Amino acid sequence: MTSDNTPGQSRLHAKQSPAEVLDLLLQGNVRFQNGNLTHYDHRALIDSTTNGQAPSAVVLSCIDSRVPVEQVFDITIGDVFSARVAGNVIGTKSLASIEYQAGVAQVRLLVVLRHTRCGAVTAAVRAVVKGSVPPEAAECIHLPSIID
Ligand SMILES: [Zn+2]
Repeated sequence: MTSDNTPGQSRLHAKQSPAEVLDLLLQGNVRFQNGNLTHYDHRALIDSTTNGQAPSAVVLSCIDSRVPVEQVFDITIGDVFSARVAGNVIGTKSLASIEYQAGVAQVRLLVVLRHTRCGAVTAAVRAVVKGSVPPEAAECIHLPSIID
């Protein structure tokens, strides 16, 4: 653990600039890559966010289970709004969610988090190249809305 936060408490605060928040997220990603994640006091964080929240960023990411936003950036409860959809593509509802977070919650940093070996991107590429979705996704009738 670094000395830039109280043990078990978040490093992010609503008054930080977008550049400061991005820097802290990137530092958290280095801790994630090094296997040096922070041990947060989740009970205290739950209690401290009971009556409100002031996340520092919005993260749009894929639903892929190998890319959990909080672990990837070594952040915790109350730190970011997380919008997750396969392939981290933007649609009407996810865009409305992000607009709301920017407009009402005054969040000024939007992070679009991509990852390697994305099944949604692979399906989209296949659909364009071969003209069909992967056979295992043939019964996913709503998949074209992601691929499109
Ligand atoms: Zn993905």
